[in-house]
Amino acid sequence: MTVWDAGDPALIAARLAEEFLARYDTPATCVGRAPGRVNLIGEHTDYNAGLVLPVALPHATYAAVRLREDGVVRIASSQIEDPWTGHRDDLASSEVPGWVGYAAGVLTTLGEAVPADLGIDVVLDSTVPMGAGLSSSAAIECAVGVASLAAAGRSVEADRDLLVAAAIRAETEVVGAPTGGMDQTISVFGRPGEALLIDFRSGERRGVPAEIEGHCWLVTDTRVSHALTDGGYGSRRADCERAAAALGVATLREADLAAVEALDDDLARRRARHVVTEIARVEVAATALREHDLATLGAQMAGSHASMRDDFEISCAELDTAVEAATAAGAVGARMTGGGFGGSSVALVPIDRRDTVIAAIDAAFAAAGYAAPRHLVATPSAGAAIVG
Ligand code: ADP
Ligand code: MG
Repeated sequence: MTVWDAGDPALIAARLAEEFLARYDTPATCVGRAPGRVNLIGEHTDYNAGLVLPVALPHATYAAVRLREDGVVRIASSQIEDPWTGHRDDLASSEVPGWVGYAAGVLTTLGEAVPADLGIDVVLDSTVPMGAGLSSSAAIECAVGVASLAAAGRSVEADRDLLVAAAIRAETEVVGAPTGGMDQTISVFGRPGEALLIDFRSGERRGVPAEIEGHCWLVTDTRVSHALTDGGYGSRRADCERAAAALGVATLREADLAAVEALDDDLARRRARHVVTEIARVEVAATALREHDLATLGAQMAGSHASMRDDFEISCAELDTAVEAATAAGAVGARMTGGGFGGSSVALVPIDRRDTVIAAIDAAFAAAGYAAPRHLVATPSAGAAIVG
């Protein structure tokens, strides 16, 4: 039974500042922290102008930084063997290792907030599992971004929208992963105790209390790694665009379920049906969460998983196993979360059933011959901030 700890932010920040000094022989200006996230419901809806309901994890990425006058970029990460040294003008080049784009891409996308000739020294550490569908990528973008803003003398509070936009561009333009914006939004705007209902049509964000007495959000990392640059995610985006075109709407947010059901093309119909029904489920789930209507909430999570498995086809055997085992062992609701093709599941679990549910998932994985999963408890936590 592996339960992944979030660590103590003050201790991690202090250790990172020490490592920065030892590595670069000069103190860091500040340490930024930005969380990973788990989406409670609403998958592949952000780029369809729909609704999502993520919470910020207590697990986060920490970045100790100092800006440089000479445009040189030096980055080291506890999660990556070899540090990288180069120049800010190289960051978008295909020669640069992928992780460097995630880590330092914001330097070029923050615009005039960080003057165009500056470089940066960075040391990173993270308690967000990488490639597990819990958005270690947004965590790293936002941690370096928030620290860079502070190091440049900007007000982090006033610049939160700028930070989200820069982090999205680092991921979509510098790295080339066609993601939709949910991850960076929650990593910057997460609040303790709350999920964030984000409407990607209006841009509206609303906090929804997400701590339920006697329950916890249990996240299970299947250890099946996905890569958003691999093609599955991009092909689903393209399917959605084709379905919207066939329906004559600008985005699937505008689509009507009856019109979707009447589509001749089976693939377009199933892809669009997932998006349209998923957006409706987010709305019902957010209301259920506010009203502590756990039966309705659980049913929405189950419906969401079935829709992703059967209509959107982004689940996998390990995710289905985690969801089925959690549900059979007493979870209120469970579903895969994140972009899919591996990654994690999320379950709402009575605290007194937590260890039973974990043991049941572990046993189901062992019986199927899968690698042992790891688990974490997603206590809704704060967004990006300076911590040292
Ligand atoms: P997810 O966001 O679900 O974790 P992604 O594929 O979007 O998965 O992002 C994972 C990638 O982000 C890693 O492969 C790596 O390139 C980069 N990354 C994330 N965290 C770190 C870290 N602490 N140090 C270095 N690179 C990281
Ligand atoms: Mg990611």
